[in-house]
Amino acid sequence: MSREKLEQFQFELLKEELLFSYENSPYYRTAFDEAGVDPRKVRGLEDIMNFPFTNKKVERDRQLAVPDLGDMVAVPEDEIVFVSASSGSTGTPTLSPFTRQDFEEWQDAEARLFWSVGMRPGDRYCHALNFTLFVGGPDVIGAQKVGALCIWAGTIPSERLLFILKEFKPTITWTTPSYAWYLGETAIKEGIDPAKDLAINKIIVAGEPGGSIKSTRDAIENLWDAKLYDFYGLSDIFGANAGMCTERDGLHLTEDHHLIEVLDPDTLEPVAEGERGEMVLTTLKKRARPMIRFRTSDIVTVNKEKCSCGRTHARINIHGRIDDMLIITGVNVFPSDIEKVVRDMPELTGEYQIVVYREKHLDRFNVEVEKKESIDLKDEDLVETVRTKIKSLLGVSPRIKILKENTLERATHKAKRVIDKREKVWSE
Ligand SMILES: [Zn+2]
Repeated sequence: MSREKLEQFQFELLKEELLFSYENSPYYRTAFDEAGVDPRKVRGLEDIMNFPFTNKKVERDRQLAVPDLGDMVAVPEDEIVFVSASSGSTGTPTLSPFTRQDFEEWQDAEARLFWSVGMRPGDRYCHALNFTLFVGGPDVIGAQKVGALCIWAGTIPSERLLFILKEFKPTITWTTPSYAWYLGETAIKEGIDPAKDLAINKIIVAGEPGGSIKSTRDAIENLWDAKLYDFYGLSDIFGANAGMCTERDGLHLTEDHHLIEVLDPDTLEPVAEGERGEMVLTTLKKRARPMIRFRTSDIVTVNKEKCSCGRTHARINIHGRIDDMLIITGVNVFPSDIEKVVRDMPELTGEYQIVVYREKHLDRFNVEVEKKESIDLKDEDLVETVRTKIKSLLGVSPRIKILKENTLERATHKAKRVIDKREKVWSE
């Protein structure tokens, strides 16, 4: 679809979604009335800017205020067929409900994303994501819709997963970037060369920025002799809302399901196309719980040019989360920036940890990295190289601590890269 047609199509869907939300969700009815907006008077896509925002906090508050599913929900419970939950690590887990239609539409979109990375009926697919409450679990159905032979592995101990990879010879798998790295290293320790002894030729990754960082991608691809594809999703909406095509130049957003805005997180005004800003998403078809102007806290850039693969859906690049962003003496530091440096240096194992602390009222940070055992180099020299590289990229110089190989804990799900030792001076 041309951009113009696509936007016309989005506009038709948007009008319906806003009206449906207003008429069926007690929360949206009140919120729209309070903001003085009327869905019946929407004349163009840009009118979305008059509608109030939602975010994780609103979602959680409404769920607590109106048990069990909250009053953002716009259908009676007997129309809901599936519910997932976000991890409760930062408070009450938020639930994400789907109607039968939502679920079908979602899995069709997943099938399209799988197809875009080159998955075909001849592929064997090993789904290595968590099935317990996690919104990424059911995405395996999308791969079945493509016609691939699907193995519902879930998150199982590495030895068992390696057994599956050896015995069933899947060609594609999906996991987090840190786990792809960890699993490859574990395989080698067990005498399996992931590049030669296994059949994996594509690895889909999501949940961490690594899949879009070239140096991390290269390292995992070399380890596995496979191509890496980054996907993006959020528990509040879909397992994956966006994914790389074979061109791997950004992630195509499923724009027939989602309207994207990229806003300056401080002023909440739109930024120019190609500039960094917070991604705000509005669902266009979701009925169980529409998400209108949901602030994702993810910092992205967007490109609406037609991709060389032929697809016209906009491509996003994810740079990190606002919550992950550290402000160190006035400079914005994303852990993903540090990762770029660490993963680029052959002397290091690629694992790292950032420790933030306050010294004489100033924020400082240490970067802890691991030197490979095989490297014969003085720690002092290595410290200097790492510091210079970080300084030239970010303009700040952290303290560098060199650790022995295998000191840092290996992630089996999402890596915890930042330890913040600063006293909190504000609360949510
Ligand atoms: Zn493309």
